[in-house]
Amino acid sequence: MKTVIIIPYRNRETHLNYWLENTYPLIKKAVPNVEVIVVEQTEGKKFNRGATINIGYLHYNNDENSYITQDVDVNPINDEIINLYGEDVKNDKFLGIYSDGRTLGGIVKFTGSTFKRVNGFPNDYWGWGHEDKDLSNRAEFYNCLIERKIKFEDSDKSKYLNIFQDNHVREDCGKWGLAYGIWDRVPDDQKKSYIESNGLSSLQYKVINEVVLMENVKKITVEI
Ligand code: UDP
Ligand code: MN
Repeated sequence: MKTVIIIPYRNRETHLNYWLENTYPLIKKAVPNVEVIVVEQTEGKKFNRGATINIGYLHYNNDENSYITQDVDVNPINDEIINLYGEDVKNDKFLGIYSDGRTLGGIVKFTGSTFKRVNGFPNDYWGWGHEDKDLSNRAEFYNCLIERKIKFEDSDKSKYLNIFQDNHVREDCGKWGLAYGIWDRVPDDQKKSYIESNGLSSLQYKVINEVVLMENVKKITVEI
């Protein structure tokens, strides 16, 4: 049984190198049996964070493992947060290690079978945002327990995290309306068929390349 850290990735080399050199060693010390998979999306389409994380899960497709989503620009720096990476998370629970109060973005830990139960992230959120709210909607639909530790909005978060700021253009994915606006009014049977038809079970992708970056760290390049 492993803990697999999934990093959605494209074109942020400085951040990735920083994370691998400075943050990964701290995590490795605190978390037994940890592995990292960087899922790099090829150029050509808008970035798709949800689908890249889904691919990281499918690469192992092992429900005994635990998985952690890890944005490449977010670096935990103290023991309290690093130890959360090693926390045992039971089935049907999402542990928001660093997350927005309403979503499951940022750093989130769950077991493989829980991720499979909610059919992972949606695959069609191209561009920035809201796939994290969609995941949270899925978790709530299946009555999973959601626990959030450090929140995006916490004023003391710099105690726990070193977060890179950058001036990338963030092009909204255009799905705010579904994830936040109308979801609560959608009847349960429609929610269920939406979730079941859009996620791990329906994802199409091609692995273009696979390289080992360091011990227990690999990068796969994928076309979605
Ligand atoms: N990301 C990436 N390349 C991109 C866009 C996003 O590697 O062009 C990954 C990266 O892991 C990043 C995460 O997706 O940390 C979330 O994107 P971003 O940092 O732009 O979102 P924000 O922090 O503004 O929510
Ligand atoms: Mn970011």
